[in-house]
Amino acid sequence: MPSKRHNVGMTKPGTAAKPLSAPQKALMKLGLVRDIDLALHLPLRYEDETSWNSLAQARDGETVQFLATVQSAEITFKPRRQLVVQVKEILPSKQGHVEDSTSQIEDLGGTCTLRFFNFYPSMQKSLATGQKIRLRGEIKGGMLGKTMMHPSVHAYSDQLPTTLTPIYPTTAGLAQSYLKRAVLTALDRCIRFGAFQETIPQEYQAPHMWPLIKAVQFLHEPTAGVSVVQLEDKTHPAWQRLKAEELLAQQISQLRAKRERQNLSAPDLSGETYSKSPQSVALANKATAKSPLDNASLTNELLEILPFQLTNAQRRVVSEISKDISKRTPMYRLLQGDVGSGKTVVAALAATQCIDSGYQCVLMAPTEILAEQHFKKLVDWLEPLLAKKNLCVAWLSGSQKRKDRQQMLAITQSGEAALVIGTHAVIQEQVKFQSLGLVLIDEQHRFGVAQRLALKAKLQDQEPHLLMMSATPIPRTLAMSYYADLDVSTLDELPPGRTPVITKVISDQRRDEVVTRIKAQISLGRQVYWVCPLIEESEVLDLANATQTHQLLGESLPGINVGLLHSKMPIADKKEVMQQFTDGKMGVLVSTTVIEVGVDVPNASLMVIEHAERFGLSQLHQLRGRVGRGAAASACVLMYSLGEHGRLGETARERLKAMAETQDGFEIARRDLDIRGPGEFLGARQSGAAMLRFADLSTDQEWLAWAQDLAPKMLDSYPLQAQQHMGRWLGNKLEYLKA
Ligand code: ADP
Ligand code: MG
Repeated sequence: MPSKRHNVGMTKPGTAAKPLSAPQKALMKLGLVRDIDLALHLPLRYEDETSWNSLAQARDGETVQFLATVQSAEITFKPRRQLVVQVKEILPSKQGHVEDSTSQIEDLGGTCTLRFFNFYPSMQKSLATGQKIRLRGEIKGGMLGKTMMHPSVHAYSDQLPTTLTPIYPTTAGLAQSYLKRAVLTALDRCIRFGAFQETIPQEYQAPHMWPLIKAVQFLHEPTAGVSVVQLEDKTHPAWQRLKAEELLAQQISQLRAKRERQNLSAPDLSGETYSKSPQSVALANKATAKSPLDNASLTNELLEILPFQLTNAQRRVVSEISKDISKRTPMYRLLQGDVGSGKTVVAALAATQCIDSGYQCVLMAPTEILAEQHFKKLVDWLEPLLAKKNLCVAWLSGSQKRKDRQQMLAITQSGEAALVIGTHAVIQEQVKFQSLGLVLIDEQHRFGVAQRLALKAKLQDQEPHLLMMSATPIPRTLAMSYYADLDVSTLDELPPGRTPVITKVISDQRRDEVVTRIKAQISLGRQVYWVCPLIEESEVLDLANATQTHQLLGESLPGINVGLLHSKMPIADKKEVMQQFTDGKMGVLVSTTVIEVGVDVPNASLMVIEHAERFGLSQLHQLRGRVGRGAAASACVLMYSLGEHGRLGETARERLKAMAETQDGFEIARRDLDIRGPGEFLGARQSGAAMLRFADLSTDQEWLAWAQDLAPKMLDSYPLQAQQHMGRWLGNKLEYLKA
């Protein structure tokens, strides 16, 4: 257990637990539990306190350090309560010996006023008249002399630190000084107990790589004279070593997770074992002598009844998946394809192959509306085919009636439901499958880590194949890094006959023109979405806004059925509204972002997004993807409002520009990554702190490639070191990486 090995200095089990102090709690909050975690809590930046400056010669805005005598100190109340201290510089020649500088009027040392708005009695004491101190801070030079606001005050000494002073990332209630002491003590223990032993075999170290122990020590206490720029932009060799370490830990852990899965045994879903499967035997008994089971392959039947030909991309992806699930090792695959690229039918074909093999398939979607839409589509396609085999499709959701639910649970458990569709209700405890072979997760990025862990726990002894779908393509470097354990299939082609969506970015001053446009579309028999924004942290306002828009639009569009959909509506009402829109009985659907994912109404040809400046880029892209699904020319109107400052923020402008310039989901994802950085981009996957702390994928691709190459070698030839390496970096967070 590598994490235990490095648990040096921790309380032994059995020792009476003392309540934690506030700073200890803060340490916990930062995830700094083990010594090794503290020792790897590296500085955010540094301050150079290694040299003296002259106060007399300091200029406005300069940061200086000097020795001084306090000439006076008083608390004033103008303009607010503050401690005002007059100091006089002690000139270098006089440093070290005490002299009464107040009597030396001819002295050329500078003077300065210090102001403190927050101060404690202990500070007042060290700043009493006559005290000698070391001061460091930024000079503000005014007509009335030099001032320093809240400089750092140190004990008088002419001995300066010889190393740069680290500033650690911290949190409320945790003082730098406390944190620094904790870190350095832990570092010392780690070094003594060998926690920084090299885990990367010599032969695999990159040329000129710093030894780990030297790198860590250096980063906590860099010697004076080192380039602060190199330290801060993390190009220094010490940082390079740490980045390499971190990326290697990430790659090893993902490769290990992948290999662990490969050792598991999953059902053979090659589509040929139906008659031998436990399910078919059970059902054959149940079907009595009525008719012999119809053995025609569902997959072929589905292909026959589809109203369209598969695109080449769909064909390729279907075959990748088909091969995967025919193997006895569990599939762990991400299907990425832009909005509208036709992921659903690919999922359906995987499902039929699974059912053909005599196993059950489950499809989980993030929202009830989306799950239901899948349900309807798949029921349309599959129910008649399944009925011939005495099988059916089950529906599970949080909102369904108890009685319905019981019935659905029963047919899921008996195996009669060959396909189970629903929200995350499908992974709840009461749900028992007869023989689960394949799990399909739609819009996987919308599920949180907790739900993924729940799914994993649920599937523990079953090991079905897993296919996750996402309309947010992952840029290559992120895929290599964070999803190295996944196989990826990509739909890089849209079904034919789609007309590109014309995107217009306009000010909300031109709302009337938009209304005219809506009328034109309706008169052509088309339908329109109108999306109202999320107002941060206020669902009430959110709702008020949507309701008001709904009313106003209703008034400007007499004779047209304008519907309203928002997240606070009862599910039944939502479904009713959605149904009317899907059936073409509603011209305009005003909605909050509940329609964001996956809804498919090909007759809709205009998407209006109000306050588009408030939406994220991938959200805008997803919303735009709701139109342009049929053959009609479609448009997306991004209406922005300038707000109180009379202008758009920088990132909002960039987002709208990106939307206007491209419709390519991959390009959008790449720009989104540029704008937001990987942390937010990845959303839930890394929230268990599996996030990279030091490496930066935009600059460290070479280290990523190095780590990717080394990880299998480590696992094959140096398994013990590989374990130690992961334990050091990831410790108890390893579980999250598997989610
Ligand atoms: P997404 O990838 O966003 O989930 P969907 O699966 O909802 O996309 O498909 C979008 C629309 O395209 C649906 O109406 C679907 O029936 C249709 N579609 C899928 N594949 C094809 C195809 N090969 N040819 C024509 N239409 C298709
Ligand atoms: Mg979809």
